[in-house]
Amino acid sequence: MQKTTYNRPKILLIYTGGTIGMIENPETKSLQPFDFSSLIENVPKVKKLDYEIDNVQFESPIDSSDMSPEHWSTIAKVVEENYDNYDGFVVLHGTDTMAYTASALSFMLENLQKPVIITGSQLPIGEVRTDGEENLITALQVAAATNKSGEPMVQEVAILFEDYLWRGNRSSKMSADNFNAFVSNNYPPLARIGLGIHFDEDALYRTAKKHPLKVRYEMDSNVMFITLFPGIQESTMRHLLNTPNIKGVVLRTYGAGNGPQMKWMIELLRDAISKGIVILNVTQCPNGGVHSTLYESGNSLTRAGVISGHDLTPEAAITKMMYLFGGGMSSEAVKSYFSRSLRGESTI
Ligand code: ASP
Repeated sequence: MQKTTYNRPKILLIYTGGTIGMIENPETKSLQPFDFSSLIENVPKVKKLDYEIDNVQFESPIDSSDMSPEHWSTIAKVVEENYDNYDGFVVLHGTDTMAYTASALSFMLENLQKPVIITGSQLPIGEVRTDGEENLITALQVAAATNKSGEPMVQEVAILFEDYLWRGNRSSKMSADNFNAFVSNNYPPLARIGLGIHFDEDALYRTAKKHPLKVRYEMDSNVMFITLFPGIQESTMRHLLNTPNIKGVVLRTYGAGNGPQMKWMIELLRDAISKGIVILNVTQCPNGGVHSTLYESGNSLTRAGVISGHDLTPEAAITKMMYLFGGGMSSEAVKSYFSRSLRGESTI
């Protein structure tokens, strides 16, 4: 008779803060983060999973509005230091900047071949109607899931929220109210959460090279968004493009990547580009991408030297720029990397 041994999945829970772990301050009535031990006490069901779960937490859990590249490095370091000892990682995080963290980590964790599942909730875990309990339990199950070959089912940074598992660098927060708070407009869900967890194996990312994990900690924050709007002033554009030390701009354009064709606009962009600033065209439309040859208004941006961001989310665009400049690349090299998808972040 053959004896089958069952190794309990080993998951590391990384608690950073966010609504999931918040409690109402009795004096101010506003929500503020509280200690992880209280958080897990509120989810006794976790013990029913036959998993080995360890946890680490930020020294002071934060509202994710305070998230910074230093915090991303802290999370990446925890993953790096514990990579060989765990089957997967679950990061508890506020929803507000979750898509930025997911995008940033996807770039920082090169050759990732284990799941890093980020989740949180719209209502604190102690609330009767909380979505946090279900999100936490499902995230743990996703992190523990394996395929037929016994490999981790998910080998990328993903966001688990309510009914879906999304690729992290394809996600955006779309609702401050719905339990389904995240969406990925240009990429299908990696899994649908129903009675079971239904993975779409064709949609899951696999790194091309099976090299050991390499964490890239350097992120350069000398980047910014400029959102176009009808009536934007020449003086505003000039001021923004002359921001000291700026290396890259994510230009949030209209429709298929279109922008105003006024002479001053094109000249200001051309001037900035000639000084080595990378200007990346990303549409303000949540769905679809940049096709700058479709209209003359897009073509003129391209002729000025603005490069296409294809169908990148704003979160993926800005964090990819931080990552590429963080690696010490020249403007020309940064531009060339925007014509490639590094972690499945764009359709090229
Ligand atoms: N402000 C909270 C945060 O992002 C919102 C949430 O977690 O849903 O930390």
